[in-house]
Amino acid sequence: YTRQRILCCAAAGCQASGSLEIKRRLETVLTATGKLAEVDVIPVGCMGLCGHGPLLRIEPSGEMFEHVTPADAEDLVAALDGGPCTVPRCDRNAPFFTRQLPIVLRHCGRINPERIEDYIAVGGYRTLYHVIHEMTPAEVINVITRSGLRGRGGAGYPTGLKWATVAKSPGERKFVICNADEGDPGAFMDRSVLESDPHLVLEGMAIAAYAVGAEQGFIYVRGEYPLAIDRLQKAIVQARRLGLLGAQIFESGFNFRIDIRVGAGAFVCGEETALIASIEGRRGQPRPRPPYPAESGLWGMPTLINNVETFANITAIIENGPEWFANIGTEKSKGTKIFALTGKIRNTGLIEVPMGITLREIVEEIGGGTPDGSPVKAVQTGGPSGGCIPASLFDTPVDYESLAAVGSIMGSGGMVVMDEHTNMVDVARFYMEFCKEESCGKCIPCRVGTVQLFNMLTKVRNGQAKGSDLVKIEELCELMRETSLCGLGQSAPNPVLSTLHYFRHEYEQLIGAEG
Ligand code: SF4
Repeated sequence: YTRQRILCCAAAGCQASGSLEIKRRLETVLTATGKLAEVDVIPVGCMGLCGHGPLLRIEPSGEMFEHVTPADAEDLVAALDGGPCTVPRCDRNAPFFTRQLPIVLRHCGRINPERIEDYIAVGGYRTLYHVIHEMTPAEVINVITRSGLRGRGGAGYPTGLKWATVAKSPGERKFVICNADEGDPGAFMDRSVLESDPHLVLEGMAIAAYAVGAEQGFIYVRGEYPLAIDRLQKAIVQARRLGLLGAQIFESGFNFRIDIRVGAGAFVCGEETALIASIEGRRGQPRPRPPYPAESGLWGMPTLINNVETFANITAIIENGPEWFANIGTEKSKGTKIFALTGKIRNTGLIEVPMGITLREIVEEIGGGTPDGSPVKAVQTGGPSGGCIPASLFDTPVDYESLAAVGSIMGSGGMVVMDEHTNMVDVARFYMEFCKEESCGKCIPCRVGTVQLFNMLTKVRNGQAKGSDLVKIEELCELMRETSLCGLGQSAPNPVLSTLHYFRHEYEQLIGAEG
């Protein structure tokens, strides 16, 4: 690019704050001043600092503006020529930007997600070409295995191992599924990636399909993400037109078609066997495993299921090599992780950080602490399956094993920050209510247990519980963990157990209030 560009965030968050109106107003002012022929106004994906939106960046200067309004258009156009501008600027040297390591998010906020040309201009589909023409499927799997990439959907299963299992499983047909049924409260990582860089995910899926021998893929995306669905649809059509998806990709013998399936909002459909049932047109309920989908998945065929962020890591690993990726992060948790920072935090938004960074660095440095400067009390990771980690453990490194050791999980990347005003019994009760509503009802421990736990927590909250009720709560949590059929019921007790462990005094105070 030699022209000046105004990059206008057009992801869902900034759109909701009026960014498209700002873009229109900028074009009007540029037209009136005769500058529209010299300046491009480009809608781009998420710039990360969502809570300060609408966001806008001027290139090539790199100046970034926050809380922009349509009335700022004249000032911003004046700023293109170095004129005075009173619009608040983002500090690009702030830890929010300098402490991140964007790999998956490297194009977000920089390209127009609705133009395949923009993706190709930054090297898009080059890796797929290279893979198809210069690598065998086994070599691709070998690279992913050596990189140490683990599934970013939450469980952290080794990606290369999963790919290898699907590749060697016999089947008339094989499938690749992208799990975009992001449902954790406070999580918007997958939505942001799909809204900002849909081709990156499609390319990762196509490489996976080549590696495992699949010709059909599905993206299962939740219906609450209309913008992501719209951009995915456009991206698939554009890629098909250019021969980058569909039959004879790059005029090779490799065929791969991707279709979208829109979920109806059931949280349990993020569980892989329920997701498969939903795509097959059946009620979205989990089934016992084994067999695992890698051996017997969609319509009984070997099926690779990875989440959005996992597929979005693939091109960078192949471009830069597995050693490059394996050198980022910790011994067992390689690469980076995207988190959605929400709750009582100054810099609400989307971040990508190297594994091994501490919770303190994320919450206090990148996140900027609480908006009013009061102490942070806890952070909740992993959504309804995760746990609450107290501030005293904020030096815990963010990796799969360390988070599990303190009673939480990595999860898919939701990170909800709580301050001193947050009552932890309320937090546990909120997540249990969520699980109660989302339980599919197939197995009794979860169907009944979530209701009972919610009622008991309500009793505690209302000051009607006795000390022995805490023991009953813990016993029921253990029972659900051990006997529920799927991860939803098995992990639903986690927020209760972690708050009981670290904040038991808050439960006891409420019981004490009753006398
Ligand atoms: Fe359904 Fe809950 Fe049982 Fe999972 S654990 S199968 S969500 S009832």
